[in-house]
Amino acid sequence: MSHHHSEREPLSSETKQALIDALRRIVPADGLLTDEESLHPYECDGLSAYRRLPLLVVLPTEVTQVEAILKLCNELDVPVVARGAGTGLSGGALPFEEGILLSLARFNQILDIDPQRRTARVQPGVRNLAISEAVAPHGLYYAPDPSSQIACTIGGNVAENAGGVHCLKYGLTVHNIQQIKVITIEGELLEIGGNGLDSAGYDLLALMTGSEGMLGVIVEVTVKLLPRPERAQVVLAAFDDIAKAGGAVGAIIAAGIIPGGLEMMDKLAIQAAEDFVHAGYPRDADAILLCELDGTNEEVSAHILKVREILKQSGATEVRTAVDEAERIAFWKGRKMAFPAVGRLAPDYYCMDGTIPRKRLPEVLAAMADLSKQYELPIANVFHAGDGNLHPLILYDANTPGELQRTEELGGKILELCVAVGGTITGEHGVGMEKIDQMCVQFQPLELSQFHAVKEAFDPKRLLNPGKAVPTLHRCAEFGAMHVHNGELPFPELERF
Ligand SMILES: Cc1cc2nc3c(=O)[nH]c(=O)nc-3n(C[C@H](O)[C@H](O)[C@H](O)COP(=O)(O)OP(=O)(O)OC[C@H]3O[C@@H](n4cnc5c(N)ncnc54)[C@H](O)[C@@H]3O)c2cc1C
Repeated sequence: MSHHHSEREPLSSETKQALIDALRRIVPADGLLTDEESLHPYECDGLSAYRRLPLLVVLPTEVTQVEAILKLCNELDVPVVARGAGTGLSGGALPFEEGILLSLARFNQILDIDPQRRTARVQPGVRNLAISEAVAPHGLYYAPDPSSQIACTIGGNVAENAGGVHCLKYGLTVHNIQQIKVITIEGELLEIGGNGLDSAGYDLLALMTGSEGMLGVIVEVTVKLLPRPERAQVVLAAFDDIAKAGGAVGAIIAAGIIPGGLEMMDKLAIQAAEDFVHAGYPRDADAILLCELDGTNEEVSAHILKVREILKQSGATEVRTAVDEAERIAFWKGRKMAFPAVGRLAPDYYCMDGTIPRKRLPEVLAAMADLSKQYELPIANVFHAGDGNLHPLILYDANTPGELQRTEELGGKILELCVAVGGTITGEHGVGMEKIDQMCVQFQPLELSQFHAVKEAFDPKRLLNPGKAVPTLHRCAEFGAMHVHNGELPFPELERF
């Protein structure tokens, strides 16, 4: 195997000791974990197929401590992986045996709520849902709502550019933040973003959002808040053919309506969710759509009529508007619990995340059904249909020899299918370790080398989450997604990447 540039020499025992001694001076005793037992909870994130123990875990409580920790790692050449709640699904927070895991969990304070400006300034370890709970008395909320919102942190959301049901109408994390504070690997504090809609210079806020802990450690986030809509109402439509449901998604958007949420579930997911939480879903449907409309009372009433009409024209066999708030919540509960519900169908499942142009939904769903047959692995689909953001859940049994490998292969094929129809290999879960090879399919060597150049500008020694998110060109060559002639990479001048 050729040399991966992300591989590094093991730390010497002197360096390890120097690191531990210095960290003891930076954080109090309970802020440093070194014994194996306390390291175990940090060995993986939500993608538990990949596991590694970190060298040690640091849990700072002050920004100045984060500065000192990063400065130290930079001096001693020690890799650093930042971690929020560890709910990530692409291995972004997977630690390195020869590196430290920097947990931001103790930064869990909401620093300031400004109802006039509709912003809140929060520490990175604040849970997503806790923001909406804290600002609810002001009639406000924070729109991006990943299904993991009870647990995941805003720092992790920024690092992954997280999405959720509401993002179709209200945008992803990147559209809902105003300013962040970041500590560089040199231990310097950067203030990025501002109050205006536009600012001079490069848009570093967008660059940092979704940067997966590769460019700096986020220590503060100013989020934008929205007024709670006067009314929200959900329509459930059942279809006897998943392609028709896919068609209805395009038809709703084409009619000029942007729903507050537009989600699809296929038969396997419907039945699993129904058996688990009794949401009131039609068990025999091939697919259902949940279409939420929010806004003023009049607006919602008008949109419901129009959406019901479109759903029927698209071939829905049943169209139900939730009769009351309890039913609306029940319909959404089925959707929000769909992952754990599907988890009950098989010992393991693998959640994929790819995005495609909306209008290609019917054919991509059909192609996935074929792949599922070919690989003899069932796939349940629960996803943000309005955004074209797919979440195929591949059901498998890790204890059956070869099944995990077949599952990963099938997952890779699905992502490549997304790219082939003009989509991307990630909608919201990030690349991490999981999708690093598919980055070679999505991007050309020149684009990848620009990514590396950005990395080098922020982190020349490649200490922040090294080897994640952006593959080396050597890795792509090995993966077979790059044309290598006579053992030479296509751009010899890019050899160092
Ligand atoms: C059941 C379930 C449902 C999910 N549903 C959704 C969904 O609907 N939408 C969605 O987008 N995601 C979803 N996810 C994925 C996950 O919750 C998100 O990616 C979330 O943003 C991760 O936040 P976290 O705090 O857990 O971050 P972690 O997993 O701890 O870290 C994620 C990445 O961010 C980096 N990071 C974390 N904190 C910082 C920081 N302060 N500074 C710099 N880098 C940092 C880490 O290094 C890592 O690369 C789901 C996960 C689960 C388990």
